[in-house]
Amino acid sequence: MAGLVDLTLSPQEEAFRAELRGWLDANHPGREPDGDEAGFEFRRDWQRRVAEAGWAGVSWPEEYGGRGATLVEQALFNEEMVRSRAPALANVLGLVMGGPVVIAHGTEEQKRRYLNPILTAEEIWCQGFSEPESGSDLASLKTRAVKSNGEWVVTGQKVWTTLAHRAKWCMLVARTDSDAPKHKGLTFFLMDMEQEGVQVRPLHQITNEPEFNELFIEEARVPDENVVGGVGNGWGVAITTLMHERAGLAFGLQVQLKVRLGELMTLVRERGLEDDPVVRQRVGQLWIEAEALRLNAYRGLTHIMKTGVPGPEGSLPKWQWSDINQAVTEAALDFRGPEAPLADSEWTYHFLRSRANSIEGGTTEILKNIIAERVLGLPRQR
Ligand SMILES: Cc1cc2nc3c(=O)[nH]c(=O)nc-3n(C[C@H](O)[C@H](O)[C@H](O)COP(=O)(O)OP(=O)(O)OC[C@H]3O[C@@H](n4cnc5c(N)ncnc54)[C@H](O)[C@@H]3O)c2cc1C
Repeated sequence: MAGLVDLTLSPQEEAFRAELRGWLDANHPGREPDGDEAGFEFRRDWQRRVAEAGWAGVSWPEEYGGRGATLVEQALFNEEMVRSRAPALANVLGLVMGGPVVIAHGTEEQKRRYLNPILTAEEIWCQGFSEPESGSDLASLKTRAVKSNGEWVVTGQKVWTTLAHRAKWCMLVARTDSDAPKHKGLTFFLMDMEQEGVQVRPLHQITNEPEFNELFIEEARVPDENVVGGVGNGWGVAITTLMHERAGLAFGLQVQLKVRLGELMTLVRERGLEDDPVVRQRVGQLWIEAEALRLNAYRGLTHIMKTGVPGPEGSLPKWQWSDINQAVTEAALDFRGPEAPLADSEWTYHFLRSRANSIEGGTTEILKNIIAERVLGLPRQR
């Protein structure tokens, strides 16, 4: 029927998935080692092997090291990686945001320079958007870039910068015109992290992982050729980045949620709770919500296939996923009993880590505003 999404895979997509499953069976590297450093190096090595076998950047153009495959095949790749419990790829921000933004807004030289080292994890990327007083209201950011002798001199502070301690490149949004209206005076730069003017200070999360950092930028230098999308166009480029973040993550995350729900059902059986009607109702409801999320992720994919770019409805799966993932980890905490928060188990870790889900990549309140205004057409917020 016209307008409906056809979820049946074509013979070509079936063949793609079968080949990928075969490769993953033969090359799965096993469980990640403990420890931040060892874990990261393990994921980096894994990504290099994935790239060498031609599976990184599934939908990126072949001329820049990608596979040149379709978006459906990219989504299948994301699903299969999670389904097979393969380790995450190390350069997540480069793959999900950096590459797509350079492909969409970059010059030919930028594509040739940056895309391949993202795929091989040779150069790790981070995202320098948030500041101590600018998170949701990103356009109010204060980090300044001033042009001097053909290069940009950047001064300011960023915060919550995931992977900054590993990164070679930072997707940095800075103010280049303080007289222009706040959305219009911003520019998107690729800043080299390996320079004296950039200091990285780790921040530990509730899980005790040093996943993100503070960035202190004091007269850091960025050459003019590292502007992406043109001076003064940083807001538009940043929005593309965020829409790719939300849409790109949705596919892997909806499968990850199903895997976790499977583990929740194992826990229910282990605890002898499978005949408890309240427990059954709770798990059943979570499964229904996870299924609705899966279909919404396909809806977002359909939009990208039709228009070439993710749309505002990509905000819906991100919101749904954070709600459901938090509810799953809370259910596990309840089913494990009063000692659960004290026990050092994977469920305790998932519960603590899931607190950030409704903040990272845009808070749930902001996503609701986007959906209200840009998907449902409700009046704009003042
Ligand atoms: C694990 C993690 C990783 C992150 N990684 C990165 C990264 O790599 N790079 C990066 O740049 N940032 C990163 N962030 C930062 C993240 O993008 C911000 O925390 C987020 O955008 C919210 O900004 P804020 O923390 O300043 O909160 P604020 O914007 O100050 O919001 C505070 C509260 O007010 C609410 N609120 C604000 N404005 C409105 C409004 N208009 N209507 C309704 N409610 C509103 C918010 O929803 C929130 O509940 C990360 C955050 C986390 C938790």
